[in-house]
Amino acid sequence: MRVSFVVICLFLVTRLHAQVNNTHAAKYGETITAAGLSRQLHVIAGPEMEGRETATRGQERAAAYIISQFSAAGLQPGVNGKWEQHYPLYSDSLLNSTITVGKNTYQFARDFLADLRAGNNQDLKVSRVYYAETVADYARLDVKGQVVMIRDGVKRGLYRSKGNLEERISIAKEKGAAAVLVISPAAGRYKSLEQQKLRSTGMYWQKDTTANPNIYYITPALAADILNTDKADNLLEEIDRGWKPPVVSNTAVRLLFNKAATILQPSNVLAYLEGTDKKNEIVFVTAHYDHLGKKDNEIFYGADDDGSGTSAVIEIAAAFARAKKAGNGPRRSMVFMTVSGEEKGLLGSQYYTEHPVYPLVNTVTDLNIDMIGRIDPAHEKDTNYLYIIGDNKLSSELRPINEKANDTYTHLKLDYKYNDPNDPEGFYYRSDHYMFAQHGIPIIFYFNGTHADYHAATDSVDKINFELLAKRARLVFYTAWDIANRDEKLVVDRHDR
Ligand SMILES: [Zn+2]
Repeated sequence: MRVSFVVICLFLVTRLHAQVNNTHAAKYGETITAAGLSRQLHVIAGPEMEGRETATRGQERAAAYIISQFSAAGLQPGVNGKWEQHYPLYSDSLLNSTITVGKNTYQFARDFLADLRAGNNQDLKVSRVYYAETVADYARLDVKGQVVMIRDGVKRGLYRSKGNLEERISIAKEKGAAAVLVISPAAGRYKSLEQQKLRSTGMYWQKDTTANPNIYYITPALAADILNTDKADNLLEEIDRGWKPPVVSNTAVRLLFNKAATILQPSNVLAYLEGTDKKNEIVFVTAHYDHLGKKDNEIFYGADDDGSGTSAVIEIAAAFARAKKAGNGPRRSMVFMTVSGEEKGLLGSQYYTEHPVYPLVNTVTDLNIDMIGRIDPAHEKDTNYLYIIGDNKLSSELRPINEKANDTYTHLKLDYKYNDPNDPEGFYYRSDHYMFAQHGIPIIFYFNGTHADYHAATDSVDKINFELLAKRARLVFYTAWDIANRDEKLVVDRHDR
């Protein structure tokens, strides 16, 4: 533990004030109960919510339920008068795509594949195709609006020295090429794959695709047709042996690519509780409400992941709202945010921190809860524990605050094992607090570790330890209470994000 002498002195000075607040803290902290959390979690991890996959009906139902609970507790909508911050997710499916060379028409998934995400609708007719073997080749070519053929370079280490595939595609992009044809033996290997998988992107995060060339991965046979050579069977081997395709092939080629693009609108749900004399400073308490949805008709309930955190955020919010109603509201404002998109790659929290409703510079902390209703195999004997992650990375004050709250009220064994930056699990990078930390906001990640039901359909509500869940949720409450009521804003004096 690295607590400076100055911090200890500050603690002594502010102790009296803290004690006055603390008598109130316990009164409201104790309203976070196993029974209340159980009531929430039975709905959130119930079959109606269908596993809460982002951008599905289940997620929308979960959002509506969370809003009803925030509203009933007396919180305010947190997004400029609305409860939800919607963000775009994309899902594309291929309608049709062919490549025509002279009189020969080649088919998607038989003769070539295309990058559906990056691809833009295209019906391009050219009378020549350029071949660029190396990065240096591009220097001599003007390929703006043209079609460039390259070979995939993954087969031999040799080719790395000539620029890897990604690098050569990005040069084609920089030079304004309209399409890139990548000779790839793998392009013909997917005939037996489920066509639907090849023809749909699944959900993906917002990307700027406007200036990208379309990328087609073509079989050596298709490439040989364009290059007008009979080396179709062993084209890449011939190139490896030193055969040079013509830099320009005068071949009539038509590239046709049509996709249907869908924009989905999942949401983060934000509840706001206005502070008193320091209301412009904001304390965040977060959890993700999305989970994995359904696979074939099996529901992945996500009771621990992260129904437990979602229930905790609702009950913590309600406890703060009770305090405010009784005239003991926090000095700083509170935002209780449940995000979606976490299981898809922290998308909801990334979107929020890139489109913040409250200035990030005034955002004091994010206390993020992700899985606090179970025990992991390492703690089967002593279950009175909680992993604390990331608490000392940006502020030297956060760990002492959290430990003091724990020493005073909850008496959990705080386990810092996963705070080790060299821990191979890398949990610090794996939940929504990480997005806040990237913006320099001090965070704590509260976590019970993984277990046999992690990301399985068996992560169900009957396995939750509600007494333990309540105790852990109360620790978050008391830590939030201290941060929201202390005289000085939490310092940011470390930079180990
Ligand atoms: Zn998860």
